[in-house]
Amino acid sequence: MEILLASTNPHKIEEFNRLFLGSGIRVMGPGGSGPAPLNVPETGQTFLENAMLKALAYMEAYSIPALADDSGICVDALAGAPGVRSARFGPPYLDDAGRVTYLLDQMRDIPPPKRTAHYVCTLVLAGPSDEPIIATGMCYGEVAAEPHEGSTGFGYDPVFIVPSYGTTVSKLTPEQKDTVGHRGKAVRRLLHALRQKSPGTGTLKG
Ligand code: IMP
Repeated sequence: MEILLASTNPHKIEEFNRLFLGSGIRVMGPGGSGPAPLNVPETGQTFLENAMLKALAYMEAYSIPALADDSGICVDALAGAPGVRSARFGPPYLDDAGRVTYLLDQMRDIPPPKRTAHYVCTLVLAGPSDEPIIATGMCYGEVAAEPHEGSTGFGYDPVFIVPSYGTTVSKLTPEQKDTVGHRGKAVRRLLHALRQKSPGTGTLKG
């Protein structure tokens, strides 16, 4: 089975390639010699609404199964912000590192016990002749006081501490991130749902 990813984010594409390895599902990103990327405005108020918008736009444009990921970090002390606006948090000129600095600045007066947060990843797999399949994964942790540079991940990973490892996601191996991370959990749930629907598809390690 081949699935088109409704995303041009190279980090998400890299993680999905890893997570679907050995599942019998081949994921391809838009661009190159494949389907052209689409500009789908993320006008939804929830991760599910945005993931649905992206998956349906790609599936309807190209008539093949499309997988969308809408994800972000929700900080308890900021009433769940940035949430669905994680990629657009702060002034529009900021890059990933700038948004991390902006987040730390918003949280500068929040002491450690109150720096709890969670990552959310909602996936929608839309096929031309099926009801969309929805799967969500979460990862609970804390926001560090300063970034910890490492080699894994992207976005807010340099400040997102996973308590079971006592360090930030950026310091984990990719395999560790896949095991405890929101995207890995969502993909495993999606594969489980797919197997229930059509036994034999989407076999995955773990
Ligand atoms: P989306 O493209 O609207 O889903 O934006 C997702 C944004 O959430 C990314 O640009 C990151 O800022 C953040 N995000 C989502 N997943 C992760 C992750 O695994 N690590 C770090 N940041 C993430």
